[in-house]
Amino acid sequence: MTTDYDVLIVGGGLVGGSLALALKDASLRIGLVEVLSDAERQASPAGDRALALSRGTVQILDGLGIWASVAPHAMAIRHIHVSDRGHFGKTRLDARDRGADALGHVALARVLEDAIQQQLDSSSVTRLCPARIMGIQSGQDSALVALKHCGDQLNISAGLVVAADGGNSTVRTLLGIEQKVRAYGQTAVVVEVNTSKDTNYTAYERFTSSGPLAFLPLERRKCSVVWTLTDEEAEDFLHQGELEFTASLQEAFGYWLGTLSLANRPQGFPLKLIQAERMTDQRVVLIGNAMHQIHPVAGQGFNLGLRDAAVLAERIQIQNRLGEDFGDPLFLGQYAGARQADLNRVIRFTDSLVRIFSNEFPPLAWARNLALMSLDRIPAAKRLLSRHAMGYGIRG
Ligand SMILES: Cc1cc2nc3c(=O)[nH]c(=O)nc-3n(C[C@H](O)[C@H](O)[C@H](O)COP(=O)(O)OP(=O)(O)OC[C@H]3O[C@@H](n4cnc5c(N)ncnc54)[C@H](O)[C@@H]3O)c2cc1C
Repeated sequence: MTTDYDVLIVGGGLVGGSLALALKDASLRIGLVEVLSDAERQASPAGDRALALSRGTVQILDGLGIWASVAPHAMAIRHIHVSDRGHFGKTRLDARDRGADALGHVALARVLEDAIQQQLDSSSVTRLCPARIMGIQSGQDSALVALKHCGDQLNISAGLVVAADGGNSTVRTLLGIEQKVRAYGQTAVVVEVNTSKDTNYTAYERFTSSGPLAFLPLERRKCSVVWTLTDEEAEDFLHQGELEFTASLQEAFGYWLGTLSLANRPQGFPLKLIQAERMTDQRVVLIGNAMHQIHPVAGQGFNLGLRDAAVLAERIQIQNRLGEDFGDPLFLGQYAGARQADLNRVIRFTDSLVRIFSNEFPPLAWARNLALMSLDRIPAAKRLLSRHAMGYGIRG
C-alpha cells in the first residue's frame, strides 16, 4: 500500500529531532510533526536546562553531524566529585584514570535543539510545524494520522509512526497504552549560578537530606544547578527572594566553588517516573520520554532516549536495505526486546540513587557514606562508576 510517509515522527524535541537526523540520508520519506512553532520553542524556558551528555552520547551526536557545532558551547567534565552533606564520605572520579579527556560534557538543551534544527532545515525531512496530532488509527498495512496543521485538518498515512512526543505523549494516550506513574513527591529546582572559584571542569553531586544537588559546569565560573527537593520545600524555596534563596543554596552546597550568585531565575520541574506498559503498537513505536520519563538525578534521560533513536534508526535502515517492512510486528518486537535491558538498567540505577540518597534514616546514611569512602579507595569500583558516567551503556 502506498503511504504519504515511510516514517512519521510525532514530536520534534531532542529525541524525535535526532531520529529524523539519523534517517535523513536513508532514501526514506520522513515527516516530523511538532506542536510548538520555532518562535515558541525559542521562547520556552525549558531550553535553559543543562544536560549532562555521556561520552556515548557525544559519539552519537558526532555521527549525526552536529557535535562540531555543539562542542564550542559545551563544557567538558574532567572530574566528578560526589559527597554527602553533613557526613565524611566522598569520592572523586577523574577522566585521566579512564585514559580519557573527559567523562562527559554539559550543554544547554537549547544549543542541541538549535544544532538539530539547522541540520534538518537543509535536509529532505518534511517538517509539519506547528501541528498537533488529533487522532491515530493503525492497521496492518499503514497507520492513519489526523493532524491539525496551521489551523487545517490533515489526514496522512505512514508505514511507521514513531511517538517521540514526550512524557505526556498524546500518541500513547490515543492508543490507550497504559502507563506506570511513580510520583517521587519531589521537584527539581533548576537555576544557573556564578561562582567565585573556577569550576575546573568539575561536576559536583552532593546528597542532602531532602535530595540530591548537582552542580554542572557551564563555564569556568558558571554552573547549572539541579536541586532536587520535596515538593513542599521546592514550593517554599521558589517563593524566596534572591538573597534568601542564594543563602539556602550556599548552605546546602557549601563553599566548594566559593561564593555563589544567581545568574537566572530558579524554575521548578515536578519529578515522576513514567513508564509506558509497552514500547510498540501496530505500526507504532514509542521512544524517548514518550516511553520512559526518568528522574534527572543521574542525568540519563536524554542519553537513554538518544540511544533509542540511534538503535531504531540503525535497524530501520538495515530492514529497508533488505527490502523488508519496518512496520512489521516482528521487527518492532525485536527492536523493543533489544532496548529493554538498557532501559531496565538505567531505571534501576536512577531509582536506587533516589531512594538511597534522599533518606536520612541513620543506618542508610552510614551505609552510603561507607560506600562513598570505600569507592574512593577501590579503583575497580571507581572505574565502574566512571564507566557508567561516561555512558558506555548497552547499545542493543
Ligand atoms: C531538570 C531536568 C534536568 C535534566 N537533566 C538531564 C541530564 O543532565 N542528562 C540527560 O540525559 N537528561 C536530562 N534530563 C532529561 C531530558 O531533558 C529528557 O530526557 C529529554 O528532553 C527527552 O527528550 P524527548 O524528545 O523524548 O521529549 P521532550 O523533550 O519532552 O520533547 C517532546 C516534543 O514533542 C512535542 N509534542 C508534545 N506533544 C505533541 C503533540 N501532541 N503533537 C506534536 N508534538 C508534540 C513537544 O513540543 C516537544 O518538542 C533532564 C530533565 C529535566 C526536567
